[in-house]
Amino acid sequence: MGEPTIFEQIAAGDIPARIVYETDTVLAFLDANPLAPGHTLVVPKEAHERLRDLPDDVATDLWAAVDELTPRVEDAVDADALTVGVNDGEAAGQEVPHVHVHLVPRFDGDGGGPIHAVAGSRPDLSDEELDDIAERIET
Ligand code: 5GP
Repeated sequence: MGEPTIFEQIAAGDIPARIVYETDTVLAFLDANPLAPGHTLVVPKEAHERLRDLPDDVATDLWAAVDELTPRVEDAVDADALTVGVNDGEAAGQEVPHVHVHLVPRFDGDGGGPIHAVAGSRPDLSDEELDDIAERIET
């Protein structure tokens, strides 16, 4: 067993956080460095680094919590929209190696971008390449 992650320490009550939701398996709390008022993190209490590592029942509980919290977070800060995202792996910008879903309230004219802004230059893929990728994902 390695060091507990920051989010395990929050779940254990060893690091303070503004907790907004808790079940046996899932916790949500305000991000310490919010991108917007109401920026909330939804995490499984167990530490799993990547989405692909989550046991099915934990994944179900996590996404159910996201579903429940999205309107609550948006309404709490009178936001116009939400960006919901996961940095799933270091190359995607994940800093805390414990799955967490960001709920970021968005406001008309807030100067932020859409999810489409997160990737680098767009690939120019042929039909064959697209067919091949689709087939690999499907099987
Ligand atoms: P990542 O880049 O891994 O997707 O995001 C990690 C998030 O965790 C960041 O938005 C960061 O502000 C937040 N965070 C890191 N440490 C703490 C902490 O101790 N408490 C809280 N509430 N949030 C944290």
